[in-house]
Amino acid sequence: MADGDHRSRIVFLGPANSGKGTQAERLAAALGIPAISTGEMLRAAVAEGSELGRRVEGVMASGQLVSDELMADVVRHRLAREDAASGFLLDGYPRTKAQVETLDEILVAHGQQLDHVVLIDAPDDVLVARALGRGRPDDQEDIVRKRLRVYKEDTAPLAEHYDQLALLRRVDGDQSIERVAELVLEAVGAA
Ligand code: AMP
Repeated sequence: MADGDHRSRIVFLGPANSGKGTQAERLAAALGIPAISTGEMLRAAVAEGSELGRRVEGVMASGQLVSDELMADVVRHRLAREDAASGFLLDGYPRTKAQVETLDEILVAHGQQLDHVVLIDAPDDVLVARALGRGRPDDQEDIVRKRLRVYKEDTAPLAEHYDQLALLRRVDGDQSIERVAELVLEAVGAA
C-alpha cells in the first residue's frame, strides 16, 4: 500500500501504569490497526518458555530494559508482518534513543513515517499506587520505583525528540479511562 494511503502509524509513550496499554488497545481498535505492545510480546515469550522468553525473563523481573539489539529483532519482525503494512500502534517501543534510531531505520526502509506520538503521563504517586493496587507478581514497590527511574532516565527524554518533530501529543492520564480515551482520540485527530 502506498504511504499516502495508510491508516495511522502511532507510538504510545508513557510510564508503566499511566493507562497507556488500555488506551493503546482502545485507540488501535477504533482505528482498525494492530496494537503492538512489546511488553505483551515479551511476557508471552516468557510464558511460552521460548528462547527469547528465557533470555528476557530476569531482566524484565528486575524492572530493567531488555537490550536494544534484542528489541530491534523483535520489532523488525513484528512490523514486517502483513497486518502492520497499512498502519500500527506501537505501545512500549521505542524506549531508548537507540530504539528511536532503529524505528527510524525500519520506517525509512518501508518508505513510512510516524503520524503521532502520544504521551500519557500521571504523577508518580498515582503511578505507584496503581501499580501496587494491581499486584502483578513483579509489582513490588522497589521494582515499581526502579521501572519509574528507568522510564525517567531512558524514555522520558524521547518526548522532547518527538516534540521537536512536531509529532508529540500530550495527554493527562490522571483521569477516568473514558475521559482519557476521548482526549486520546482528539490528540490524533480522530474524535
Ligand atoms: P511494559 O509492559 O511495556 O511495561 O514492558 C514490561 C517490561 O518488558 C519492561 O519493564 C522491560 O523489561 C521489557 N520491555 C518492553 N518493551 C521494551 C523495550 N522497548 N525495550 C526494552 N525493554 C522492554
